[in-house]
Amino acid sequence: MIDSHSHSKFSHDGRVSIEKLIARAEEMGMNYYAVTEHLDRDYKFAKRERFIRQLNLKRYLRKVEKIRSQRDGNEKTYVAFGVEAGYCPKSAPIYERELAGLDLDVVINSIHTIDGGDVYFKDWFNGKEQDYIYNRYLDLIIESLDVNYHYDIVAHIGYVTRYAPYENVSLMQDKYLEKIDIILKKIIEKDKTIEINTHIKDEKLGFLPEIPLLKRYYELGGRNITFSSDTHRLDTMGFRYDRVVKVAKEIGFTHFVTYRKHQKVIEEF
Ligand SMILES: [Zn+2]
Ligand SMILES: [Zn+2]
Repeated sequence: MIDSHSHSKFSHDGRVSIEKLIARAEEMGMNYYAVTEHLDRDYKFAKRERFIRQLNLKRYLRKVEKIRSQRDGNEKTYVAFGVEAGYCPKSAPIYERELAGLDLDVVINSIHTIDGGDVYFKDWFNGKEQDYIYNRYLDLIIESLDVNYHYDIVAHIGYVTRYAPYENVSLMQDKYLEKIDIILKKIIEKDKTIEINTHIKDEKLGFLPEIPLLKRYYELGGRNITFSSDTHRLDTMGFRYDRVVKVAKEIGFTHFVTYRKHQKVIEEF
């Protein structure tokens, strides 16, 4: 088992210490486990979220150093450290400064906010047209793929659909397919990795991105996927791992990709 995405108490919405998360990953026999704290500089420009506690990057890096120095590198579980950088046009220059030269394993590139609102909140959708929001969301992903800071993984494509109140929440509708293809082709061309993220309440779907999007990615030649529980707790580490492997295999994928010091490592199923 591998898990490429998780949050400890260092993140504003985390619950558990890094030490406890690592101990649990080892107990579960994981080959690879990544702690990826929220670097939500996009929230600084959001209406409601600008008051949320921001990651103290220096303090986090000191902790990373300390834990790395206590491990000899021969453990079964490779513990990776990284951040999840929430993109918005105004946060990009901050990341260019903050992420430059950092000794991390992995950077996750994600979109949580559209025009200063977090799509996590259902009431944010009130009075907004689906076409407008979905097109804005897809445009933001396209922009985020071309940023001038290094990233490895593209997070939870379809995040906007999680709480969207529309009749058909799928991104894989004819009118959006052109933009979806632009996104997938860019990811392939840049040799980045798509995560399959199981931090989603909808039991029926169970993960993001939706299956037709993953199929399209495969069809276009994309082979870099990884597994992400995006857990903020101990009991959902590796959540729905078997289901994700099964679906990935059915589509044709043969492995997950993980990152160690930003170098790709192939993890066969
Ligand atoms: Zn996220
Ligand atoms: Zn996350």
